Amino acid sequence: MALSYKKSFPSKDYDYIIIGSGISGIGLAAILAREGRKVLVLERHYAPGGFTHTFSRCGYEWDVGVHYIGQVHQERSFIRHIFNYVTDGSLKWVEMPDNYDRLIFGEQTYDFYKGKQAFKEHLKAKFPDKEDQKAIDEYVDLITRASRTSKGLFTIKALPKIVTALAGSYIARDAKPYYSKTTWEVLSSFIKNPKLIGVLTGQFGDYGLPPKQSSFIMHAMLVNHYFDGGSYPSGGSARIFESIEPVINKAGGDVYTNAEVEEILIKNGKASGVRMADGREIHASQVISSAGIFNTYDKLLKKRWDIRKKMKNVTPSVSHFCLYIGLKDTPENLGLEPTNLWVYPDNYEHDENIKNYLRDPENAEFPVAYISFPAAKDPEFQQRHPGRSTIEIITMADYEMFRKWESTRWRKRGEDYEALKERYSQRLLKVLYGQLPHLEGKVDYYELSTPLSTRHFMNYDHGEIYGLNHDPERFASKAIHVKTPVKHLYLTGQDIVSCGIAGALISSLVTATVLTGRNMIKAVATAGGA
Ligand SMILES: Cc1cc2nc3c(=O)[nH]c(=O)nc-3n(C[C@H](O)[C@H](O)[C@H](O)COP(=O)(O)OP(=O)(O)OC[C@H]3O[C@@H](n4cnc5c(N)ncnc54)[C@H](O)[C@@H]3O)c2cc1C
Repeated sequence: MALSYKKSFPSKDYDYIIIGSGISGIGLAAILAREGRKVLVLERHYAPGGFTHTFSRCGYEWDVGVHYIGQVHQERSFIRHIFNYVTDGSLKWVEMPDNYDRLIFGEQTYDFYKGKQAFKEHLKAKFPDKEDQKAIDEYVDLITRASRTSKGLFTIKALPKIVTALAGSYIARDAKPYYSKTTWEVLSSFIKNPKLIGVLTGQFGDYGLPPKQSSFIMHAMLVNHYFDGGSYPSGGSARIFESIEPVINKAGGDVYTNAEVEEILIKNGKASGVRMADGREIHASQVISSAGIFNTYDKLLKKRWDIRKKMKNVTPSVSHFCLYIGLKDTPENLGLEPTNLWVYPDNYEHDENIKNYLRDPENAEFPVAYISFPAAKDPEFQQRHPGRSTIEIITMADYEMFRKWESTRWRKRGEDYEALKERYSQRLLKVLYGQLPHLEGKVDYYELSTPLSTRHFMNYDHGEIYGLNHDPERFASKAIHVKTPVKHLYLTGQDIVSCGIAGALISSLVTATVLTGRNMIKAVATAGGA
């Protein structure tokens, strides 16, 4: 159980302070703990786990930022090894059905199946044209090849900054053709059918940018991540934190919630600890921030550093609405399946649809609505919440729409804000009933989160859900690095490698490599998850 900063002050001598208890923060803490280090993790939220936390209302429970994770059910996969390493093998996974994603464009559905062969076969059945079929084969090969090159791109984040600056481009040269181009540029060079491109890029919501804006390397990593299907943590996503915390505790480390860091302290040019929001100070010889690059450079460091100017092309990612739904029956009785549904307008034009939506969000069709069924994914859900089910529906949101309520308080934002929430809730329910009409009249509870919820609970200023945008500029930026201009201050998290539980967890390994001087990526792979 995480400790509450409201109840006790962390008074031990810690080797490291980590700001933020998301998967990257606690993953790093556990890796350091396994190296015998005592780590203090400070989390401002009342719940630990960052985007892996869950919340409850009226007898229901929802996850916030974990709907499916790839590669963890394969005993020999690297991602599984890392999870085994940081949890001491205590986290169990439930595999989703072979058909993990269903994409719906008007009347047409396309199923993404586990396994490259099955993936291709199901798509080819929908695209009988010879040229399309050839393109599907080429696509799968390309995704495999491109995602393999991403290693070089992240290795340079762990090298001395001077090496990254001078030789980074050379070291990551294999990845350049993929990270420097948009997904559209790469795919349209060999796929002539825009409908096929629309389908192949349908998972764009998993990284937040449509094909004409996203870096192809991000698309390739994401698609490859799910090629072998998806899994869900048995017992819900809160189990991720619960299974990592004991590893941190075992080495004398602690995780505190309600512990907001206000400032990173610097003494003689080196990070020396943190000042908390209540003004008290905690000292340690090394500080790591997993709170995001913008938070770290713009808020937690009081002096402005030149490096921030080098990131002027790097922008915050998308923000979202999420409708959390509760129903008083089991998934079986309600006919809910674990397969994720992705619902789009029927024109297959993701870029155009987003533009239209941002121009007129109240009237334009949602560019994507993603529907997840956590109660159906987790066999233990019925033990915790007998006779109940949950559903989540996510769509994009424009943060600018919410700026006028920025200074209002959570749950006290006023009638106009509540009215807007109700309008979007009804629109999202309509999308749900469009797919599962038998659920109409069965919804017992719903609650909508907005970008202001993400800002309030997760401290992302623009309600961004994936940290930095995953565009070519971000992947080309050498300024994004584990090391900061302040000695003994380091970064980890989704901004270092990529969004996604796997991306954020890999960033923990990259940062741990810098901190310990040991190649932790190799160490974990060699340990084989032991
Ligand atoms: C709606 C949604 C759905 C998603 N679905 C999936 C999915 O299905 N599969 C998948 O793999 N990924 C998914 N993701 C992405 C994934 O959840 C994130 O990329 C990942 O969890 C980020 O981890 P992190 O450790 O980098 O950051 P975070 O989890 O954001 O952790 C950062 C922590 O720092 C804390 N913090 C910030 N400022 C301070 C401060 N001043 N003091 C103390 N603490 C502070 C925050 O409160 C937060 O807890 C989803 C994300 C969202 C939002």
